[in-house]
Amino acid sequence: MIAVDNLTVRFGPVEAVGDVTFTVRAGESFGLVGESGSGKSTVLRAIAGLAATAEGRVLFDGAAVRAPRGKGFHKAVQMVFQDPYGSLHPRHTVDRILSEPAVIHGLPEVDRRVEAILAGVGLGPQFRFRFPHQLSGGQRQRVAIGRALMPEPTVLLLDEPTSSLDVSVQAEVLNLLQRIKAERGLTFILVSHNLAVVAHMCDRMAVMNRGRIVEQVTRAGLRQGRAAEPYTRQLLAASKGFDREFARELIDYA
Ligand code: ADP
Ligand code: MG
Repeated sequence: MIAVDNLTVRFGPVEAVGDVTFTVRAGESFGLVGESGSGKSTVLRAIAGLAATAEGRVLFDGAAVRAPRGKGFHKAVQMVFQDPYGSLHPRHTVDRILSEPAVIHGLPEVDRRVEAILAGVGLGPQFRFRFPHQLSGGQRQRVAIGRALMPEPTVLLLDEPTSSLDVSVQAEVLNLLQRIKAERGLTFILVSHNLAVVAHMCDRMAVMNRGRIVEQVTRAGLRQGRAAEPYTRQLLAASKGFDREFARELIDYA
């Protein structure tokens, strides 16, 4: 569904991402994990066309994507950001935030779609005409997820979608994402600095350090202690304690 092929991204002389290669199959959840500054967001932004590719290619459905991305790509591949407050217009109601993508993509029955999406992300109709500041962090992130779903995408790029939320709310939003993925047959690329979160959500993951992929592991491999890189074990140790629920099955060997 998505392939990243020898991707390098530079900001001036600084190489933020170097020689990154991975493939994500349709319906899969693929994780990118690494500490802050390791280049995870830059990879997602390069896929979305928000960061310029210095070298390498991004393929969608087997074809190299063009810069700037076309409308079809933007309909099919939607992004959710870490900070729902920053990503929602403060003076737009939930109704307007959700309607706009439907209007932009020329979808019919905008009213009905807004109602359905609100229900789909677990928000009652009473939220429809509220402003972002009248919502909790978790509710705001539900709106941001709803907005991303509005164009009926096939791929969601999730950049630390729960990192700004309390741990209990994080679990709720991750469960919502799992349910939405199953209902809609979506493909996910999920970025987090927390290996426990990525291992909870993803079948396969790439571990990034200083702009490079140091290792790709499966969840099953992680559980069986097959992480080869000391850096991966370090991340696992750092994720321990952060959320016992997610980490429990992983802590045995870290
Ligand atoms: P992560 O998401 O893993 O925390 P980022 O992809 O945001 O990492 O950043 C990777 C590196 O690229 C960091 O060193 C960061 O400072 C740098 N970087 C990211 N975006 C920009 C930008 N727009 N301009 C200059 N440097 C940037
Ligand atoms: Mg980031």
